[in-house]
Amino acid sequence: MAQAKKAVKKVAKKPAKKAVKKPAAKVVQAAVKKAAVKKPAVKKAPAKKVAAKKVSAKKITWTKPYIAKPGDPVRIGVLGGSGLYGMAGLTNMQWRKVSTPWGDPSDELLFGKLEGAELVFLPRHGRGHRHSPSEVNYRANIDALKRVGCHDVISVSACGSFKEHLPPGSFVIVDQFIDRTFMRQKSFFSTGMVAHVSAAHPVCHRLGDALEQAAKDAGISAQRGGTYLCMEGPQFSTQAESFLYKSWGCDVIGMTNAPEAKLAREAELCYASVAMVTDFDCWHPDHDHVDVAAVIRVLLDNASKGQSLVAHAVKYLKDRPEHCHQGCDTALENALITAPEKRDPAVLRKLDAVAGRILNR
Ligand SMILES: [Zn+2]
Repeated sequence: MAQAKKAVKKVAKKPAKKAVKKPAAKVVQAAVKKAAVKKPAVKKAPAKKVAAKKVSAKKITWTKPYIAKPGDPVRIGVLGGSGLYGMAGLTNMQWRKVSTPWGDPSDELLFGKLEGAELVFLPRHGRGHRHSPSEVNYRANIDALKRVGCHDVISVSACGSFKEHLPPGSFVIVDQFIDRTFMRQKSFFSTGMVAHVSAAHPVCHRLGDALEQAAKDAGISAQRGGTYLCMEGPQFSTQAESFLYKSWGCDVIGMTNAPEAKLAREAELCYASVAMVTDFDCWHPDHDHVDVAAVIRVLLDNASKGQSLVAHAVKYLKDRPEHCHQGCDTALENALITAPEKRDPAVLRKLDAVAGRILNR
């Protein structure tokens, strides 16, 4: 944001100097040459151009979307949840600020190389865990990953378990969500540009396949498929809620993934989620409350396993097919419903990364 503002000021200031200084110099020159009337008149035209530039520059203050060129290496986005604030094994690391039309992402983005692929890591809660699940700017996070050229996004998150066979330390490669959140911005679309994408199959099978194989390679016990209940938080469930969600057949519970998966679909990103079990929520007769100290111990253990899983998964994602067979990357194809003449240019400008593919053709 700061860089963009500076750029705006630069554009505004440079020509302004010309407008003031040059005519003054010319006036002196002209007085000497006895042609003072003509020269200031000639200088009025650039002043108009300056004003036009200033207005258009003011409108866009966010990072320009990265346009991938043929042959560019795959960029894989990783959203790290509680306990995961960095990525082991990354080389050529660089934290970079990325600005979006939706506000600031949770933190700067960490760019680096891992297993020969380009990886962009974003700690969902920010370094030092500053943002609560209700306050994470999910739109900015997903937009930022799309904006810097990621096509695939792997989410790695801590969760509670509803199943006896999924004790702390287990991993679930989630394939469904039940969204019980109510305090989040969950769509990039609104009045002026309405869209309805399908969320029937909210995660990408190709990424799921890669994660399943990676778990086998890394010797991590991971269940393929499972329903993730997304609660608002930040408090953990009451026992009545826990029994209810268990009775619905949910596998795991967390506070972040549902809005993220839906936004990723709107942004035409392939998205998959790995839920790492830290506790039994509070339904289990032998573990009937969530103990934060115990959760943190398991969390740290899980975090290193999560990083190993991502490193193994990258090997299978380096050669990305031209198009996702499931259609994640064309999700907006028939989703934009607002009539072209009724679309709001201000809303469209904010969709430059998320819906650029379809709006710019
Ligand atoms: Zn996909």
